[in-house]
Amino acid sequence: VVDRITAKQRSALMSRIRGRDTKPEKVVRSLVHRMGFRFRIGSNHLMGNPDLVLSRHRKVIFVHGCFWHQHTRCPRAARPKSHVEFWNTKLDGNIQRDRSVTAGLRRAGWSSLIVWECEIKHIIVLRAKLCRFLVSPSLTGRQKEISRRSGG
Ligand SMILES: [Zn+2]
Repeated sequence: VVDRITAKQRSALMSRIRGRDTKPEKVVRSLVHRMGFRFRIGSNHLMGNPDLVLSRHRKVIFVHGCFWHQHTRCPRAARPKSHVEFWNTKLDGNIQRDRSVTAGLRRAGWSSLIVWECEIKHIIVLRAKLCRFLVSPSLTGRQKEISRRSGG
C-alpha cells in the first residue's frame, strides 16, 4: 500500500489529533517568549484550562479557534447552513462557557486575553496586542493601587 500523505501532512494531522502544539499556539508562545515573559503551557487546575499561564503576573492567554469559540464578525466563524439547531445550541453553549470562564478567572484575580486563530496572520498587530496585555497592570496590582489611593 502506497502511503499517500506527505510527512508535512502527517505532522499537521497528528498535531490536530493531539490538540496541542497547533500552529497558532506555537506562534503565540514564541512571541510571548521573545518578549521575555515566562509562562507555563496549559493549566488543568485553572478554569478553562488556559493555553499560557503567567503565574507571577496573574495573567492567562487563550488561543481560540474562530469557529468553535465564535469570533465576532469573523468569516471563519460563519455558522453551518445545515443542522442549524444543533450548531446554534453547540456554539452558543461554547460562547456562554467562554464568558463564564473569563468572569470566573477575573473573580479569582486573573486577567485573561483571547488570541483568535485568524490574528496569527498579522504578526505585528498580534505582537502589539500581546505586549499591551502583558505590560498592563495585573488585576491584583490594580486593586492594590485603588486601595492605596483610597487610603485603605
Ligand atoms: Zn477570527
